[in-house]
This record gives sequence, C-alpha cells and structure tokens, in this order.
Amino acid sequence: MSKILIVEDEEAIADLEKDYLEINGFEVEVANDGKQGLERALAEDFDLFILDLMLPGVDGFEICRQVRDEKNTPIIMVSAKKDDIDKIRGLGLGADDYMTKPFSPSELVARVKAHLARYERLIGSTIEENKVIEIRGLKIDTTARRVWVNGEEKSFTTKEFDLLTFLAGHPNHVYTKDELFSEIWDMESIGDIATVTVHIKKIREKVEYDTSNPQYIETIWGVGYRFKM
Ligand code: CA
Repeated sequence: MSKILIVEDEEAIADLEKDYLEINGFEVEVANDGKQGLERALAEDFDLFILDLMLPGVDGFEICRQVRDEKNTPIIMVSAKKDDIDKIRGLGLGADDYMTKPFSPSELVARVKAHLARYERLIGSTIEENKVIEIRGLKIDTTARRVWVNGEEKSFTTKEFDLLTFLAGHPNHVYTKDELFSEIWDMESIGDIATVTVHIKKIREKVEYDTSNPQYIETIWGVGYRFKM
C-alpha cells in the first residue's frame, strides 16, 4: 500500500484529502505544521508528499527543497494562490506537480495515482544499474564502457578498455602476457604477447599518475601483470 504524507495546516482540507485518498486505498499521514511535516518527511519513507505552500513554522518551499536534497519521492505542491504556483515553478525546487486550491479531491487522487505510477516506472528502469568498478581514483563503467581517472574521463580503444576491465575485474591476480593475450584477443588476431605490453603501456599512460611507479597495474617481473587492489 502506498503511503502518503500530507503537510497541510488547514485541518478541514487535510481531512478531506486524507478521506479521499484512504477511500482509494492509500495509507495517509497528516502533519499540520511545517516543522513536523519536514521531520516526518525526512524521517520516514513515504511514497508521495502533498505539500501545502503556506505553513506555520517551515513553509512548503523549504520542505520541498530539503526533501529533494535527500529523496526522489514525488512531491505535489498545493497553494491557494495561482501566483505562488508560478513562483514555485520558477524556483525549480524539484516538485513534480502543482495544484491550486480549491481543487476537487478526485483530481488530487488522479494526480497522486499518475505520479506514483510514473515513479514506479522510474524506479523499475533504474534497477538494472550499470556495472561499475571503482578502485581508488579509478572508475570503470563496464556497461557504458567509460573510464574516469580522478573524476576526469579518459578515452580508451576497445582492446585497451577490455584489458583494463579484465585486470581490474580480477584484482590481485597475476596474469601472464600469454593468458592476457588469449583472454582479450581472439585466436585469429594478428599479434603476440608484445601487443599486450604495448597496450599495458598505453593504459598506464592514461590511468597512472607516475608510469614508472604504477599504482594500478603492477609488473610482476618474469611473470606478467597484476591489478593492485
Ligand atoms: Ca496553508
């Protein structure tokens, strides 16, 4: 059951909204002042917020701003004044919708349902997150095939990327050049283990601060390479 927090100081309006939402199967909590509303909004996981703008204590602007800093939960802002709605739109506080009072309770219910459905789709679509390897200042998004070194994006050729990702994906494991060659290049590829050496050198130039003292890909003399965890 979706849980909704209404922050509204006019009790008659809050009760009406609560009744309609409950009839429609929602669990509803009401806060009658801004301070309590903000505390409840930050403390608990609600599925949607209905925020009145003019409130005693902390106003709806401030609640919206603080909630948005921490949560992506849908926020519907309501106000008695059309001008205020224009103002909050202009401020870009991150509210998802705006309603001018008085509105029909069924309109509110319809909008609540629409925002919950949209938010669920959004959550659902972000479940398959990109697979990211992060080791110290090195970040590899293996899904998007992008690499950042200390926040700066670097470009890699396909094989450089594959080699770096393979090593970083198996940290502290020593691989011989032969093993790396057969792992990254297919058998028909023209080349030999010297290709591996060349690619390691290029990768180091991009990821290492000091290539003569590598922090990521270590040379194990006479054996091969190891990605340091
Ligand atoms: Ca009010």
